[in-house]
This record gives sequence, C-alpha cells and structure tokens, in this order.
Amino acid sequence: MTTGSATTVFQHRFADELGELAVPWQAAETPDPRLLLLNDELALELGLDPVELRTSEGLGLLTGTRVPPGATSVAQAYAGHQFGGYSPRLGDGRALLLGELRDREGRLRDLHLKGSGRTPFSRGGDGLAAVGPMLREYVVGEAMHALGVPTTRALAVVATGRPVHRETVLPGAVLARVASSHLRVGTFQYAAATGDLGLLRRLADFAIERHHPAAATAEHPYRALFESVVVTQAELMARWMLLGFVHGVMNTDNMTISGETIDYGPCAFMEAFDPATVFSSIDTGGRYAYGNQPAAAQWNLARFAESLLPLLADEQDTAVALAVESLGGFAPTYSAAWSTGLRAKLGLSRTAADGADGADELAAEFVQLLRADHVDWTSGFRALGSAVRGDVDQVRGLFLDLVGIDDWLARWLALSPEGSLLDRTNPLYIPRNHLVEEALDAATAGDLAPVRQLVEVVRDPWTERPGLERYAVPAPEGFGRYTTYCGT
Ligand code: AMP
Ligand code: MG
Repeated sequence: MTTGSATTVFQHRFADELGELAVPWQAAETPDPRLLLLNDELALELGLDPVELRTSEGLGLLTGTRVPPGATSVAQAYAGHQFGGYSPRLGDGRALLLGELRDREGRLRDLHLKGSGRTPFSRGGDGLAAVGPMLREYVVGEAMHALGVPTTRALAVVATGRPVHRETVLPGAVLARVASSHLRVGTFQYAAATGDLGLLRRLADFAIERHHPAAATAEHPYRALFESVVVTQAELMARWMLLGFVHGVMNTDNMTISGETIDYGPCAFMEAFDPATVFSSIDTGGRYAYGNQPAAAQWNLARFAESLLPLLADEQDTAVALAVESLGGFAPTYSAAWSTGLRAKLGLSRTAADGADGADELAAEFVQLLRADHVDWTSGFRALGSAVRGDVDQVRGLFLDLVGIDDWLARWLALSPEGSLLDRTNPLYIPRNHLVEEALDAATAGDLAPVRQLVEVVRDPWTERPGLERYAVPAPEGFGRYTTYCGT
C-alpha cells in the first residue's frame, strides 16, 4: 500500500529468521468491510497515512486481505499453559502477523491481525472475532497506554460484514494490533519442545536483540535475558496492581517477552478493593484473581525458565540452580515497584530506602481502610488530591469508618504529600466495566458514539473535564457482579 508519497515497507524478520515458528497464511475475505475505529495517532507513529487507511485499499491492509508487495502474512506457532494445563500446540488460531514496521522512533513494531479467519492452528475454532470484544481490546489498550502501562495497542477495528456465531449471532470484526513483538512465554515453550536447540537459541537471540539488548553483552546472555524478562514482568505486575487491573487470563501464551500487556479478553478493573476479585466466567478457582497476579506471573516465568534450561548450562542441575536463583529476583523487584508506586499514589516522592517516615505502613493502612469499607480503589486514591488541597469531604464521603479515615488523614497530611504527584499518579477516568459494556452493546447494535466517547475519555485519565462525571464513578448498585467471557 502506498501511504502518501511513501510506500509501506513491511519487514518479515520473524518469518525469515524463525521460519519454523511461522506458517505463511492468508486472511479470510471480508464481505463488507467497514471501519469502526482508527487510531490516527498510532498510524502516524508507524508512518502510515490515516487518510489512506480509510480507503478501501487501506481497509484491505487492516484486514489482511490486501497484503502489500513484499509482505508475508504468517500464523505464529506457540504452546502454552492454560490455567496450569499444558497445550503443546496453540498458535494463532484466528490471528496473523503481517510483518514488522519501523516506527518514527526507529523501533520495530509488529502489525498483527485478530479475527482474520481460520488457520492451521484453529483446532475447533472458527477463526473469527466479534465486534464487541475487538472494541474492548481497543478501549482497554488505549486506556492502559494512557495510564503509562506497557501494552500492545489497537490500530483499527474493521467490521467484516460476516456474522459470527456465539451464544447469539454477532457482527464480526478484525482488530489490527501493534506490539513491540508477539514473542510469548509460549513461543519459547513451543521452540523448546521441538528439541531443536538451534531454533531455541535463534529465538532467544531474536528476543535479546529486539527487547533486551543489554543481555547481548552480558557474561551469560541467556541468563541475562531471563533476568531482564523477570524484571520487566515484575514491574508490569506492580503497574497492574496499582491500577486495580485484572487481566483475567494470564496463561503462558498471553505473557510477552517484551513486558507488554497483551490479549485483553476477560480483563476488567477492580472497583471495591478485594484481592479475591475475579471477573472471568471460566476462572472458577480464582487462579488469576487480582491478588494472585504477581504469583501467576512468577509461575509463568518459571515455565519460561524451564524452556531456557538448555541455554543456561550444559548440566541440567546447574541450569536449574541458576534459573531458581534468577527467578529469585522477581519478589524484591515487585515489592520495590509496588512500594514506590504506592508511595507515589499517596503523593510521596521519596523512595522506600528512606522509608523511616512510616509511609509504607501508612499506605498499607489506607489499603486496609479501603478494603474494610468496600471503597472503590480508583476513587479512593483520586480523592486524596482534593484532601491535600483542603477539601477532605470527598474522601470522607467514601468511608463509613470516619474516625479511622480522619485519624489516617491527619497522619498522612503531616507528611506533606504533593498534590501534583497525586493527580498524575491516581487516574480519574478508567474504563469502568459498566461503561465498557454499555459502549460495546451500543456498538454491536450499530451506534459507535458511546465507544468513541469512551476512547476519548480514557485517553486522558488525569485531567478532570466538565460533563464527564459519570465516567469517574463506579458502577451503580444495580449493575451487580460483573462477569466477563473468554474465547469471544
Ligand atoms: P486466548 O486465550 O484468547 O489468547 O486464546 C487461546 C488460543 O485459542 C489461541 O491459540 C487462539 O488462537 C485460540 N483461539 C481463540 N479463539 C479462537 C477462535 N475463535 N478460532 C480459532 N482459534 C481461537
Ligand atoms: Mg492469547
């Protein structure tokens, strides 16, 4: 496709360098493609012309039906532990990698499609996606990006005109998604299971070059790769936890090597603070509950380590000992990121190292107060900004235990929290579950206005704007317990 005067130049590094993990495949035709959402800002970042992306040729690119010359679309192979059970062959059952683009800052980014039809990895699935879940991925990804969380991002959602059969018949869509790559823990599990050590090494080298370049010059590059992934994932978990984000399906095939959040399926934001919060209908055991996420990430990283063992040392026992030691870096990294992040949410910029001020204890107490009174996590922290400017009514209005919160506020204010830090650390607008549902239902019925508005709102989570009051409050009582669905 030509974009302005330039021609879109896709690279196909994954397909070329890791051919054993890439099956060349074509996207399904789309009977009646219609653009629902286009991320102009992201398009420009990638050097793509949003005006051209809106043409029928552009829609062809965004649905994979008109792949530009030189590009090879491939389905990627990967394995994965799903809810603890191993599947040796998952792969892109309804997705394709179009290739890599060099963005304006020189970074290589994957352009990938979801909902583009059956592939050799589809098993019993239809290879399709419905409008609602693809828009959810768009909205939540944009929110996470605006909140400063590493994440894949949606470039576009195009309705295909093909019906998708779920519990009901739904309009189908293709999501065009951008990621720093789609290398997953499950990609390494798949490569390791082939027994081809050369392939595993090539994959690890590819990951080092693309995501963890400092590992290349380390004394033990593959161990350094592992440790670097441990750090990025521990930091990612702290970010999720600080925001109350629940991913919902942290299988090893949904965990990236880059440290980006990927695959927004049954995800949702916790409102009343409770570590046992689960939204996904299939997570009956609470494996991926809010409070279990750091442990789940650590479990996935242990599976990643297992796949890397042949590269860590010749002797299996030595390799295991090294992996265990390196995985030990997760807990301290996570704790430090959580503690620093929580201090920032209290408006305290000093680090935990000079924690003699008792801020860590104060933070833990605040979380307990939130929990005891079932206070909405996001509003509870956000209200602290008003309190520091002299209006404590907003905070007090959220709690039943007024003696407890008054006592806490007095001790907290004595530490001189910074208002500006509070306001840029505690979002006012997140994609509230009931508003996401409302917007997706409207879009499925043909009205895109609510989802467009929601994207607008969550793109600036920090700045209070008149008229957006309903976006800043938790779901009404009547909304009830929120349940999300997988495989949608
Ligand atoms: P997920 O947990 O949604 O990331 O997907 C897990 C696996 O199921 C991946 O291999 C997907 O490609 C596959 N999958 C999910 N939905 C479908 C579908 N509708 N058709 C074919 N494969 C699917
Ligand atoms: Mg997935």
